[in-house]
Amino acid sequence: MARTAPRLLTTFTTPLLPDDYAGLFDPLRGREIRGRITDIAHHPDFTTLTIEPGPGLPHRFEAGQFIGLGLQVDGVWRWRCYSLTNPPAPSPSRGTDGHTRRELTVSVKPVPDGRISTRLADHARPGGIIRLSAPGGDFHLPSPVPGKLLFVTAGAGITPVMSMLRWLRQEYGTSDGWPDVVHVHSERGAEPARPFGRELRELSEAVPAYRLIHRDTTADGRLRSEER
Ligand SMILES: Cc1cc2nc3c(=O)[nH]c(=O)nc-3n(C[C@H](O)[C@H](O)[C@H](O)COP(=O)(O)OP(=O)(O)OC[C@H]3O[C@@H](n4cnc5c(N)ncnc54)[C@H](O)[C@@H]3O)c2cc1C
Repeated sequence: MARTAPRLLTTFTTPLLPDDYAGLFDPLRGREIRGRITDIAHHPDFTTLTIEPGPGLPHRFEAGQFIGLGLQVDGVWRWRCYSLTNPPAPSPSRGTDGHTRRELTVSVKPVPDGRISTRLADHARPGGIIRLSAPGGDFHLPSPVPGKLLFVTAGAGITPVMSMLRWLRQEYGTSDGWPDVVHVHSERGAEPARPFGRELRELSEAVPAYRLIHRDTTADGRLRSEER
């Protein structure tokens, strides 16, 4: 019976699938993975979107992974990758089922003349529905977390590392459990762009094991590989 019911439903609804009808009642359900924008925060460099994903999105992700956001522009679906900036859920050793989050954040830096980033930054609204692809990518914190970590980031490249640092803070608080982290960030400006700058400064004051080295490229030029 459990197997016959979906088959019968499909027969009655063909050529559409039952999921297509579900999408008429709840926009987060349907054949594609979708998400609802629940909050938008504008900063001079980044626009942060909080997204509630529909049931089709896998619950698990690793700190540092990205998702795909899809928008229809002039009748064509365009996809871009954006790193998740929120941390995954606490690890199972902390009493949760691990990596489960039903709210995701991404921070988008508008690129001049960019098709998708400018639309997301200027036109996205709370309540808007957006297409998503599952979290992926090999650039994530390994498990177990090594005792020493070096992050080298520049501009918008800080976003995956924000998820990693937020996860470490969530996991270890400000206690001794932290790995030794050196974070070299390069940016046009006296500190990392908002909304991240103040958070990173506070982190470096609260956690002795986290060392932030900020490089202002307007004053000191870009990092060169021969610098140590
Ligand atoms: C794994 C991953 C994670 C990422 N995470 C983030 C993130 O967290 N935050 C973030 O802000 N970005 C992130 N990005 C970058 C993001 O995916 C987009 O590339 C970025 O937002 C620009 O997209 P766009 O559609 O606005 O620009 P596009 O329309 O793709 O244009 C990009 C640039 O190319 C130029 N261009 C476009 N077409 C042409 C052409 N035919 N000839 C010449 N020039 C052209 C445009 O003028 C523009 O300057 C990530 C990318 C990857 C791969």
